Amino acid sequence: MAGIYVFSDKLDIAAEIISFAKQTGKEVFALTFTEEAAAELAQHGSNKVYLLKGVSPIVENYSKSIAEFITKEGAELFVVGATARGRDIAARVAGYLDCGMVSDVSSLSYTDGILVCERMLYGGAVVQSEVLTGLSVVTVPAGKFEVCEGKSEIVTVNLEADTRVSLVARTPIIKGGVELNGADKIVCVGLGLDKEEDLQMARELATVLDAELGCSRGIAEERQWLPVEQYIGISGAVIQPQLYLSMGVSGQIQHMFGIRDSKIIVAIDSNEKAPIFRSADYGIVGDMYEIIPLLTETLRNM
Ligand SMILES: Cc1cc2nc3c(=O)[nH]c(=O)nc-3n(C[C@H](O)[C@H](O)[C@H](O)COP(=O)(O)OP(=O)(O)OC[C@H]3O[C@@H](n4cnc5c(N)ncnc54)[C@H](O)[C@@H]3O)c2cc1C
Repeated sequence: MAGIYVFSDKLDIAAEIISFAKQTGKEVFALTFTEEAAAELAQHGSNKVYLLKGVSPIVENYSKSIAEFITKEGAELFVVGATARGRDIAARVAGYLDCGMVSDVSSLSYTDGILVCERMLYGGAVVQSEVLTGLSVVTVPAGKFEVCEGKSEIVTVNLEADTRVSLVARTPIIKGGVELNGADKIVCVGLGLDKEEDLQMARELATVLDAELGCSRGIAEERQWLPVEQYIGISGAVIQPQLYLSMGVSGQIQHMFGIRDSKIIVAIDSNEKAPIFRSADYGIVGDMYEIIPLLTETLRNM
């Protein structure tokens, strides 16, 4: 059936991109691989949920048959959640379809039947519009759209899997225990920090604020003082806390991309011209080695 076909390996993102696609006024069909996911997605207002079944547990192995299925159905667009796996599948499906693909799209609209997509470049400094014709593929980042409600029919479809790659083992990644996505408050340290031991100062402030500790990329990648999953920015975590408080972070565009959805930004930096002050709700110009212990002590005594 003509319309927009959507897929994400993450259920919450799949629910979001159903409502994102519905904004175009087109019919929307969700693809998923498990019965539980199908039951959940069937609550979010798509025209149908297709439960895809096959012999392989690897979703990527269905890229060719997804391309064939949506072509047969007369799809106009395939929208995929921009997770690591989603990007992989989107590129493979676009390859099999030999069609145009645009990544990290922030809006979709049809003008005279032509699809116009907008995407942000340079950390959000520029919005680029791209036109796609014919069946195309786009990826959409998470956390941007309200989920809608409405019951959908579930239809089971058997797909052929490419079995050249098989699953041998699954090994969980051991994480540092810090969860920045979904954190309400985040204290962020930057390269203004002189020594690794001084992280203790940031940890103490984070503790009194009941906040998680994040950092700029250099602290994680160059100095390796914190795990990489703790750095924030365009190539790290994109956060949406109620409070983001930075110390010794200059506020380069790649970092700011990751914090722009923070509700309140507080910046402490010794350089009054640091770019972070342009986006901060509250700024303190000064030496963090003087300010942070005072702030921590004051908050502790409140
Ligand atoms: C392709 C690409 C992707 C990137 N992705 C990311 C990303 O995702 N996240 C990210 O963070 N970066 C990223 N970067 C790096 C980014 O460009 C910046 O280099 C980095 O964000 C700077 O980190 P910083 O603010 O901690 O350090 P700096 O820019 O060196 O700033 C340090 C700040 O500390 C202040 N300071 C020094 N001493 C004190 C003191 N005693 N008290 C108070 N303030 C003090 C200084 O005034 C300065 O403003 C990326 C770069 C590239 C090229």
